[in-house]
Amino acid sequence: MARRKKIYEGKAKILYEGPEPGTLVQYFKDDATAFNAEKKATIEGKGVLNNRLSEFFMTGLGQIGVPTHFIRRLNMREQLVRACEIIPLEVIVRNYAAGSISERLGIEEGTQLPRPIVEYCYKDDSLGDPLVTEEHIAAFGWASQQDMDDMVSLAIRVNDFLSGVMLAVGIRLIDFKIEIGRVYDGDFMRLIVADEISPDSCRLWDIATGQKLDKDVFRRDLGSLTDAYSEVARRLGVLPKTPLSKPTLIN
Ligand code: UDP
Repeated sequence: MARRKKIYEGKAKILYEGPEPGTLVQYFKDDATAFNAEKKATIEGKGVLNNRLSEFFMTGLGQIGVPTHFIRRLNMREQLVRACEIIPLEVIVRNYAAGSISERLGIEEGTQLPRPIVEYCYKDDSLGDPLVTEEHIAAFGWASQQDMDDMVSLAIRVNDFLSGVMLAVGIRLIDFKIEIGRVYDGDFMRLIVADEISPDSCRLWDIATGQKLDKDVFRRDLGSLTDAYSEVARRLGVLPKTPLSKPTLIN
């Protein structure tokens, strides 16, 4: 059997060459890392859950007209995605203070922000993904002013969608990170949401109890990460309602 070509391996996913030009296969690993990969573990079932959750969010975004790289899920751990040129920025949207903004500005975790705040970090693990401003982005040519305006519009639409979907199942969207890519349709370039949207890249707090249902469970040793992600999946109807010992997919 021919071995397929690995394009890129990151901390939580692998990208393989896709079956047609312009496509890639995105494989979700069970590996979890935090603090710039200083803390590492393999968490059985995480990749399966994130594959399915990212499919759920990307499909919903597509249905409301937000373009994404998602084409279709292939199996438990893989999805077919459109190849794009990733802009080397993490776009973070915050509704409530937590994590680095709390540390940086001394705002108590859980404080509602006056409005959603969009931040950019430059994607470079060796530098620890530093926070950058639009001035840096324009000066170093990572994106144009038009790209930045489009990225903020996309990020705010994703925020409104995710906040609403989560609110409906009793979960508060504290913050999240997305990555954005460029695709070319003939002479036109447009931006699409790429990478993944999952509890690895969001902060999700149960509204009733404040319980954390995201990667902070791993970062801060708060219990079972699979249980937390399974709870999110169950509430969203991605997993059966009755608890199972192992994540099991509905169809
Ligand atoms: N985030 C992420 N990848 C990163 C950095 C942050 O997915 O490399 C997400 C993180 O899970 C949270 C949001 O972006 O939902 C804001 O993260 P923050 O800046 O507070 O950083 P952290 O406290 O995670 O270092």
